[in-house]
Amino acid sequence: MRDRARRAISECKHIATMSEEPDRITRRFLTPPVHQVHAHLRARMEAMGMTIRVDAAGNLCGLWQPAGARGARLIMGSHIDTVPNAGAYDGILGVALALEWVALAQELALPLALEVIAFSEEEGVRFGVPFIGSRVVAGRFDTALLEFKDSDGVTMEQAILDYGLDPHCIAEAAVDDDALGFVEIHVEQGPVLDSGGLSVAAVSAIMGQTRLSLKFTGQANHAGTTPMRLRRDALTAAAEWVTAVETYAIATEGLVATIGKFAVDPNASNVIPGVAQLSLDVRHPDDTARNDAVDVLLAKTSAIGARRGLTTICVREMDQPAVPMDERLTAFVTEAIDACGFRVKTMPSGAGHDAMVMAARMPAAMLFLRSPGGISHHPAETVLEEDVEAALHVGRKFLQRLTAESR
Ligand SMILES: [Zn+2]
Repeated sequence: MRDRARRAISECKHIATMSEEPDRITRRFLTPPVHQVHAHLRARMEAMGMTIRVDAAGNLCGLWQPAGARGARLIMGSHIDTVPNAGAYDGILGVALALEWVALAQELALPLALEVIAFSEEEGVRFGVPFIGSRVVAGRFDTALLEFKDSDGVTMEQAILDYGLDPHCIAEAAVDDDALGFVEIHVEQGPVLDSGGLSVAAVSAIMGQTRLSLKFTGQANHAGTTPMRLRRDALTAAAEWVTAVETYAIATEGLVATIGKFAVDPNASNVIPGVAQLSLDVRHPDDTARNDAVDVLLAKTSAIGARRGLTTICVREMDQPAVPMDERLTAFVTEAIDACGFRVKTMPSGAGHDAMVMAARMPAAMLFLRSPGGISHHPAETVLEEDVEAALHVGRKFLQRLTAESR
């Protein structure tokens, strides 16, 4: 297994050289280096005896259909696009490991059909909209997206044509019903496994997410002539609310709340701020808990505003429900983790993943690998050889179990 783990890691490092930029990893949807990735994966899959096709959105799909395979196929995969100045493992490790899982199934002669999908787009960098690849596979692609333009003014439709694909065939790329589920292997991209000393975990759900923008409006005024008790300072009100959000989130199990944007007006050192504008991002694996949290936090803005003589406005920009992973497939993953002698851990994912989109179409599960230092979306992102090896042991048990259950 150690050799397989090393091979998966070196695959990621090799594919990391296929970049839009010379000294860093940047690989957006259907840009030239994606041709290199496709050529590389195609050769690898062909050597493994898989049947390959590239769909109209640039998803590379390899099918392993062993003689005597019974029943539906399991689909595995993750994405091959990256954020700008990315690490070498986000997404691509899930493809490299899925191929190693296929190699294990071949070695064990499991009568289980397996398809590996290298999703063309997940990060949302080029067109500002994420999950393009998995939306197409899941049959959840809105063709209005074809008119979206990248920063060079190229439409998605043109980008697909330029790559040599036919955007009119997107509807045909939707997955058929002959799939028993989807499994995605992915780096955790956070510090939970690392802080707990764990190699792997099963994912229970992708957290739901609410994004809001807020505005505290008071009165801008002279910093020297306005006594403290006569001020309506938007910044100090907003600051009080920011710390209240943190206090509430710390005290609420499973909740993460972030104020990532903060702007004051007029933003001058001798003027009391009249306006403070903020963003709020709230996530929780349970939708009721998330909605309750949003209600409480908004009530606090009104209370703080009222006490300080300010008005508050809040606009809800996004409400995305949580996506629970499939119980049965996830139980197979946790039982495989247990059977391999690793400590069992299930955890929600605070980040979105292709599995979230695929879950709309079929049972879906995820296996997380430790992110050392909790670092991701950064060149310092890495994985430990022992954790990749752990994911291979878990995969072997999982596939054996799934084969036995599919009989
Ligand atoms: Zn990813």
